[in-house]
Amino acid sequence: MFNRQDYVSDSDWQRYMDFSKDLETPNVVINLHTIKMNFLQLKKSFPYAHIYYAVKACPGIPVVRMLAELGSNFDIASRYELDEVLSLGISPDRISYGNTIKKARDVKYFYEKGVRMFATDSKEDLKNIAREAPGSRVYVRILVESTATADWPLSRKFGCHPDMAYDLLVQARDLGLTPYGISFHVGSQQRDIGQWNDAIAKAKYLFTSLEEEEGIKLTMINMGGGFPAHYIQPSNELDDYASEITRYLDDDFAEDRPMIVLEPGRSLTGDSGIMASEVVLVSRKNNTALQRWVYQDAGKFNGLIETMDESIKYPIITEKDGGKEGEVILAGPTCDSADIMYEDKKYTLPIDLKSGDKLYWLSTGAYTSSYASVYFNGFPPIKTYYMGENGENVTE
Ligand SMILES: *Cc1c(COP(=O)(O)O)cnc(C)c1O
Repeated sequence: MFNRQDYVSDSDWQRYMDFSKDLETPNVVINLHTIKMNFLQLKKSFPYAHIYYAVKACPGIPVVRMLAELGSNFDIASRYELDEVLSLGISPDRISYGNTIKKARDVKYFYEKGVRMFATDSKEDLKNIAREAPGSRVYVRILVESTATADWPLSRKFGCHPDMAYDLLVQARDLGLTPYGISFHVGSQQRDIGQWNDAIAKAKYLFTSLEEEEGIKLTMINMGGGFPAHYIQPSNELDDYASEITRYLDDDFAEDRPMIVLEPGRSLTGDSGIMASEVVLVSRKNNTALQRWVYQDAGKFNGLIETMDESIKYPIITEKDGGKEGEVILAGPTCDSADIMYEDKKYTLPIDLKSGDKLYWLSTGAYTSSYASVYFNGFPPIKTYYMGENGENVTE
């Protein structure tokens, strides 16, 4: 049903096959070379931007270590991610505490470790930051309405109305903090580039009004993530995002462009992963059913949570591709009927598919390896491997 070459080159596939041939399923193999290329491409497309890798997308040590060596900064959401990143010798001035939902004692912990950049979107959190992280730079996340065109929306829960952002930045100054900038996230896998235009316009309004009315000169716009990986539904290429977004910035700010931060997660790591699963059973619910149920050993609870509501649609290939295919419903191995990946979206798989055959889920590098339950029904979290540039197994 899918053409593997559209997603993975012949040489990468060959290296993957050599690397993975003896691994137990389910597993996900992260190709570090792909992440490196995506990072370099992003830097080339946005030469003026500071990149803060959103660690949650694929938090493995080999990934964080390699991105640190390439010069990335890090967007961190918890003290646990912070501990990991600091343990690799990464300096706290390369870290932003980007989660607006945090305990006062976690703010304190970050401050004690040397972090001085914090996101916020509420009064209570701002007061905590002022008390536990005095003098730090704060940026306020604004709400953007862009859920319809993002495959994995991140709005509603985070951000505040621009009017409130205005008040928070004034209050930040009054509390002795440094009002640093505005952030937004237009939604993950955002396929409508125009969403950045609306968000940048809101940021511009805040830059202007805060300066004119309060004498507060902001420094930074953090444009979040939202850049695409390659799934089934087409999206524009990164270069198109970059040229459009740069034009929006030029239109609004001309030569006065503020410091720009990007927080990519999915676009750096999504294409780097291949998940291998094994077919457990193929069955039909009655003798004349047109669709087969394909149960296999990867599911919602061990790596495929982004199939919730069939949001992210991964390309899937098998070793029997090329012959006759039929429609299937794809499900995971657990005793929970939520553990169905695709039912509305009609995937087709080879007619002769049977238990023991492997499925390869392409573009599964983002939000799989750590986005999983722990031993639901006894099934362990998915095992993640990191493949280096020469096909070697990178363990840390
Ligand atoms: C998850 C997250 C990101 C990464 O978003 P992608 O769409 O995966 O690139 C960036 N910033 C923040 C604050 C996030 O929570």
